[in-house]
Amino acid sequence: MSRTEISEDLFERARAVVPGGVNSPVRAFGAVGGTPRFMESGDGPYVVDVDGNRYVDLVCSWGPMILGHRHPAVVEAITDALSRGTSFGTATPGEVELAEEIVSLVEPVEKVRLVSSGTEATMSAVRLARGFTGRSRVIKFAGCYHGHVDALLAAAGSGVVTFGLPDTPGVTGASAADTIVLPYNSPEAVTAAFEAYGDDIACVITEACPANMGVVPPRPGFNALLRELCTAHGALLIVDEVLTGFRVSASGWYGLDPVEADLMTFGKVMGGGLPAAAFGGRADVMDRLAPEGPVYQAGTLSGNPLACAAGLATLRACGDEVYDRVDAAALIIGRAASDALAAAGVPHRLQRAGNLFSIFFTADPVTDFSGARSQDTGAYRAFFHSMLDQGVYLPPSAYEAWFLSAAHDEEALTRVAEALPAAAKAAASVSSS
Ligand SMILES: *Cc1c(COP(=O)(O)O)cnc(C)c1O
Repeated sequence: MSRTEISEDLFERARAVVPGGVNSPVRAFGAVGGTPRFMESGDGPYVVDVDGNRYVDLVCSWGPMILGHRHPAVVEAITDALSRGTSFGTATPGEVELAEEIVSLVEPVEKVRLVSSGTEATMSAVRLARGFTGRSRVIKFAGCYHGHVDALLAAAGSGVVTFGLPDTPGVTGASAADTIVLPYNSPEAVTAAFEAYGDDIACVITEACPANMGVVPPRPGFNALLRELCTAHGALLIVDEVLTGFRVSASGWYGLDPVEADLMTFGKVMGGGLPAAAFGGRADVMDRLAPEGPVYQAGTLSGNPLACAAGLATLRACGDEVYDRVDAAALIIGRAASDALAAAGVPHRLQRAGNLFSIFFTADPVTDFSGARSQDTGAYRAFFHSMLDQGVYLPPSAYEAWFLSAAHDEEALTRVAEALPAAAKAAASVSSS
């Protein structure tokens, strides 16, 4: 067992002044139990907590740290920007460069607006779709997470499912009334919804490849079907690439499954570890935004110079060799985890989508949210804590993808591989089947 006195102490102090002691729910370890670790520093593939424990980091800040912690080019870019000032509330050159970079990498994006979080990106994209079409209804899929936007929290993944919150108090019936929640990967359900409400559907919003209920790839042709139905009915297709964008390839999921969205949302990797996100797409749609058009959208810190510098440095450093390394590391760790669980007799499914993967503690393939929820979260809890005690930091929830970086070298991968057999045995000892 690792020492956790200082984390315990901080958690107690935090709980006195911050709800649940954390600023984002999954961090509290509620789903896995135990004391959340307070991290003090990171370096490459490692993070170090306040008690001095060092972990191989398989969360990577939930995706942004694709180059690893404190990558020299990113540190240099931030330091350089810092020396010139932190925020001006004016247009700055860095925003232009970051926008140009995104437009050059992701073909369907002709124009882009920068915001500070993925939540803001999806919220703004939905508002724009409604403003553009003059329609009110939005289709979303159960298990897809688009941030904590009121209208999109219904049947959402990520922390919402981790804590089993069926409906979030505070979201009024009125703000969710125009949201149609459909089962993921069901062509029948989405076709039927368009038949029933087609003239009133402003947009379909979908994760490019869902990874917030665990990794549940779209069935072949599913995203293309969404495209066809939206076009046929005059609705906009919003593809949420906040998680997949610039992570699964230089042009995100679009690089693997080139379905043209009208609007796309980005975050995580494009901020390089600072708060930056974006939404973009067709110029004729984007030009409906203020000040060009009537749809209002704004932000005091939008396009912040430090965040733009970190994001730009990250995107520029993400060459082919970075994706090759992340792909290879994901292949190795996914296979090693699955092999260890199989050897210990733990029912599980390794699900992959490009370099994303997660392990469901269930014997059946998972194609939608109800499948994801059928897993044995108790087995994951035991697995998680064994890994943690052995110095591997996994997502503290069974419903999240595992994240790797280009900094996960042989030494880091070996440490993970060596920890897996004992963790698999721990999972086997509590496995309900
Ligand atoms: C993380 C995430 C969001 C929300 O981004 P925040 O920056 O946490 O607000 C939205 N959509 C997807 C697909 C995500 O993974």
